[in-house]
Amino acid sequence: MVRSPGRVNLIGDHTDYNDGFVLPMAIEQAVWIAAEPRTDKRLELESLLTKAEISADLDDLTKTATWADYVTGVASEFVSAGLPLSGWNGVVASDLPAGAGLSSSAALELASARVFAEMANVPWEPVSMAQLAQRAENTWVGANVGIMDQLISACGQADTALLIDCRSLDGSAVAVPPDVAVVVIDSGTRRGLVDSEYNERRSTCEEVARLGGVTALRDLDMDGLDSIRSELTELQFRRARHVINENAVTVKVAELLPAGDFDEVGRLMDESHASLRDDFEISTPAMDELVSRARSADGVHGARMTGGGFGGSAVALVDREAAERFAIEIPQVFRERTGNDAHGFVAKASAGTSARWQ
Ligand code: ADP
Ligand code: MG
Repeated sequence: MVRSPGRVNLIGDHTDYNDGFVLPMAIEQAVWIAAEPRTDKRLELESLLTKAEISADLDDLTKTATWADYVTGVASEFVSAGLPLSGWNGVVASDLPAGAGLSSSAALELASARVFAEMANVPWEPVSMAQLAQRAENTWVGANVGIMDQLISACGQADTALLIDCRSLDGSAVAVPPDVAVVVIDSGTRRGLVDSEYNERRSTCEEVARLGGVTALRDLDMDGLDSIRSELTELQFRRARHVINENAVTVKVAELLPAGDFDEVGRLMDESHASLRDDFEISTPAMDELVSRARSADGVHGARMTGGGFGGSAVALVDREAAERFAIEIPQVFRERTGNDAHGFVAKASAGTSARWQ
């Protein structure tokens, strides 16, 4: 049995592929796979969530444009990395809603990677496995995602968020003090076919970095961006401004949160949401409504959309004693007003990918 968790990102969205900083925590909700070895090189896997099956020959992997690609993509990257593969039967269970911005895809990739590793006696190296899973999502699924989701699913730590430098891949623990809680609200709205929007944002960022003569937007500050403004379209300028501001506030929040400055953290979360909405243009009217309702509730310091965007989940920093009630009431009000199947929970930081065999 293997387990790999989802995650919630407190702040720092669309900074990872710009070599910047992110501040996620792995959560209790996770993908689980129960597996047994086979004597041949086939993969037979059933998902209890999607009621769908994968039946694949590991010597002849093909893309299917279904959920199978998250698993067979990992197998294919094992081959590219020169790692051995052997066959197995398995069942996938999950209490992570798929497509909710809580990174069910990376959890599925890392859980699969862990099974493939165990079955062929490949030593488990969390960081390099996260990179392998990212390559699977980039090349096999076709989503040009950064490293955050895979890294936090593989390397999450119990009881703490992590500030991750997506250039060095170093992570440092950022404690969430006991007087506040991180609350996640799944808006119940799902992103559709938006991989192209994501990939387009990424290439715009890379183009601005190129025009600025730097490796990545992480290397540019607002003065640097202003100095090349005349070479940029208005759209390029706004996209880059989001990344540069977001990167700076992520580092700030990582200092202010453990120090207990919740009002300032909340203010920066609110600003981050505005930046994602106005400069990066990846929020939705439903998400904006959810975030503004969350913000006006009692005991809330700040709220923002979290994850890749275009629907999914919001994250809020809430006084501990108000958190449980907030996690029930805000989704309820939102459900009644919009008809979206929203749900909330108080997030608890959990450990990364693990295995338990018997
Ligand atoms: P997110 O990572 O935010 O949940 P993605 O769009 O990146 O959203 O990934 C969601 C996809 O991952 C689903 O459409 C599905 O293909 C796959 N997936 C996630 N969890 C499962 C599961 N338990 N069983 C089968 N497929 C899953
Ligand atoms: Mg995903």
